[in-house]
Amino acid sequence: MAKYDLIIIGAGPAGLTAGLYSGRSRLNTLLIEKMAVGGRILLSETIENYPGFPEGISTQNLMGRMEAQVRELGVGIISDEVLEIDCAKKVVRISDGVHEGQAIIIASGARPKKLGIPGEEKYTGRGVSYCATCDGPFFKEKKVVIVGGGNAVAEEAIYLSRFASQVSIIHRRKDLRASAILQERLQANKKVDFILNSIVTEIKGSQKTEAVTIKDVESGNLRDLNCDGIFIYIGYEPETIFLKGKIRMDENGLVITDDNMATSEAGIFACGDCRKKSLYQVVNACGDGAVAADSAYKYISNKR
Ligand code: NAP
Repeated sequence: MAKYDLIIIGAGPAGLTAGLYSGRSRLNTLLIEKMAVGGRILLSETIENYPGFPEGISTQNLMGRMEAQVRELGVGIISDEVLEIDCAKKVVRISDGVHEGQAIIIASGARPKKLGIPGEEKYTGRGVSYCATCDGPFFKEKKVVIVGGGNAVAEEAIYLSRFASQVSIIHRRKDLRASAILQERLQANKKVDFILNSIVTEIKGSQKTEAVTIKDVESGNLRDLNCDGIFIYIGYEPETIFLKGKIRMDENGLVITDDNMATSEAGIFACGDCRKKSLYQVVNACGDGAVAADSAYKYISNKR
């Protein structure tokens, strides 16, 4: 069993910032990430509301810089999935063994929600995508639909319009919830159109996606729309299954913390998109991470 001062689960903006503060406090720190270092923000191409970058910055660039800053401090980053934690013993079980800390920070983030409709699983990777940044370039001069009505849909529809010949936003209500500035850009984009008060009920095709069935929620009418791809941006759900029964969470699996990012269990802190809060942005994920690392440092110092 390897021993550390602090174990951080998740290397998105929250986890990397916690790693930055922890490294600068000279805590012996391990960061564990099951996907790509950088987290789910990498599903978006650019970020425009991270302070200090008036022209926006590519998410790869921003997260690459955060990672480099953390590695520079000697913080270890490993690629593995956390299967279980023992809150009392501060032991983390991964597929490759166990690690013990004096404190743990959970920064496990969130994963894209699925529609749960016929064809979604079958055509994932064959026209169904949750990542415009990764898959958008495959749809050059093709027709795509994008589902949802939040900021993610607005930003990704604009990104997809760089490649696709047409981008149809399908939203279940008549109003999008995306911020005003993004909605103005959508309206001005000739490649983007709107299919409102509508939901997708099925994804159809043979070898790959060829059409979606759309239901008008007011009339109940169904129709098929031909398309080459469907991008799904209907929000996120926290990556907290491994914490079930171990820590206080709300009914949606969001970890409950206080203002110091302390959870219900002593020495276990949580930050970023996996915790219950009012705003889910990179900028406050970073703020959460700094607070969590500071709280963990104080917790460890008081024990010594
Ligand atoms: P979101 O803001 O939660 O919006 C999800 C959208 O999907 C909503 O419009 C919702 O409809 C719709 N939806 C949910 N479940 C659905 C279902 N089963 N079928 C059809 N539609 C469904 O999610 P998001 O846009 O992915 O953003 C997630 C978080 O990241 C938000 O806090 C957002 O502000 C943040 N974010 C910020 C930025 C930015 O500031 N630049 C960029 C991306 C994301 P209703 O509107 O009817 O609920």
